[in-house]
Amino acid sequence: MPELPEAEYMVRRLVECATGVRIREATVLRASLIAPQSPDDLAETVRGRKVVGYARRAKNVLLHLDRGWTLRVQLGMTGHFYWVPDARVLPRFTRVWFGLSNRAALVFEDARTFGNVHLHRTEELAAVFADYGPEPLDEGFTWQQLKGSGARAKGPIKPFLLDQSKVVGLGNIWAAESLYAARIAPGRAIPEMDDAAWKALHRAIRKTLSAAIENTFRVTRSGEEFPEADLLACAVYGRLGEACRRCKGPIERFVQAGRSTFHCPACQR
Ligand SMILES: [Zn+2]
Repeated sequence: MPELPEAEYMVRRLVECATGVRIREATVLRASLIAPQSPDDLAETVRGRKVVGYARRAKNVLLHLDRGWTLRVQLGMTGHFYWVPDARVLPRFTRVWFGLSNRAALVFEDARTFGNVHLHRTEELAAVFADYGPEPLDEGFTWQQLKGSGARAKGPIKPFLLDQSKVVGLGNIWAAESLYAARIAPGRAIPEMDDAAWKALHRAIRKTLSAAIENTFRVTRSGEEFPEADLLACAVYGRLGEACRRCKGPIERFVQAGRSTFHCPACQR
């Protein structure tokens, strides 16, 4: 499932490959992915619009268009949004695509169709994202802000990190990796987090996500490739029974809030 690093990777690739492009046409191959909008409405609105910038908010890829429109791509489980040089050979799971000049296209590929593409007035985006927590990689994101998000929370720390209203962009993989880096057990109760723990977690989240973005670039060569978590040098995720890189003890797994949680019970407390 794409998390923040993959979404950030897609945005940076779009900037590289498709800055300043103009949309000539939009083709919707799976109408349910743009509902409640109709394919005709979408095509009509974006036809001739120039892409004036790409951005990311949490796991949304944003295409800012001229005349105050923004396309918002939610990646869902398997979504991937990227530039292709020749739309005559579209990827197999293309659901929506935007034809550009010289046969190039911007493609939304989504095998399992849990993602979607929505068109908004750019000025409405603040309201669209009203329930989202802060961006962990923003310059202004502080440990006090992270601690503040947990002020009234009582439960364990890992499900808290997956709650996008507290802090955005952490999915199951990077929440586990961040907790390992901070030496905090996934089951630690939030009221038991002292300032040192919040500081360590804040530092670990930023370091883990930044490294994941760099690794995504390292293991992929084009915008079309999609990095798998096992290529991204995880320390605990997916490593059940393997040796902890710090203490050499075995990595364990348990189910927490319905999700598989990997950790080192010896060095995470
Ligand atoms: Zn360990």
